Amino acid sequence: MISRRGILSLLAAPPARPCAVAVGVASLDLLRCDDRARMDTLWAPPGSTLKPFTLLSLADPRPVACAHTLRLSGHLLDCSHLPLSGPLDPATALAASCNCWFAENARRLDPVRFQHRLLQAGAKATRARSLEDLQLQALGLENVLFTPLGLARAYARLARQATPQILDGLEQAVREGTAQWAALDHLSIAGKTGTTSSGAWFAGFAPARRPQIAVAAFVPAGTGGADAAPLARELFAWWQRTASSR
Ligand SMILES: [Zn+2]
Repeated sequence: MISRRGILSLLAAPPARPCAVAVGVASLDLLRCDDRARMDTLWAPPGSTLKPFTLLSLADPRPVACAHTLRLSGHLLDCSHLPLSGPLDPATALAASCNCWFAENARRLDPVRFQHRLLQAGAKATRARSLEDLQLQALGLENVLFTPLGLARAYARLARQATPQILDGLEQAVREGTAQWAALDHLSIAGKTGTTSSGAWFAGFAPARRPQIAVAAFVPAGTGGADAAPLARELFAWWQRTASSR
């Protein structure tokens, strides 16, 4: 039989809940957050929201045809996008979140420089000790952690330095890819979802071509597309409403 104290402690246990953060792109200042206690203490692997940073770290990304199936260190990482024929360019690989493309191009990353770039972006990152470690890091699955506030600020800085191919890929991901549930009428959004065993993410910025707000949303379970993207959408909608009333 559970004691009254035991029941009370169960009731007091905080449920795993989402955390969403919005920051200004120019200032990096916090604009809104529903859980300030956890926005910079909750660390989780960023999954595919890391892929734009991987792309930024590739000096000469090569076209790669998607093989669909991928196994790395016992992880099953098959692509979930629709079949794509022929070698993929970086924007298409980013929009489709093609694991095969990123794992193959990660072979040319320098582990020391990549770790340094991740640390600069605000992550906790260890240096990859093997090729598979490096590939898993490039996919945002291992050896790299972000907080919601850290990822929102990383995307704010990304918004200011995004290459045309990154911008195209992130806009396409919201328009017709995994991040569609972040989309709003009358606001162009660039963003990316990520789903790992630790939780689900969306990170992005808007307006895509004149960015002013960056958002990161983390949900402890579920998927980036179905669970984190709609949460981010609420923050973009809030910003849209307040912008129109200014
Ligand atoms: Zn693929």
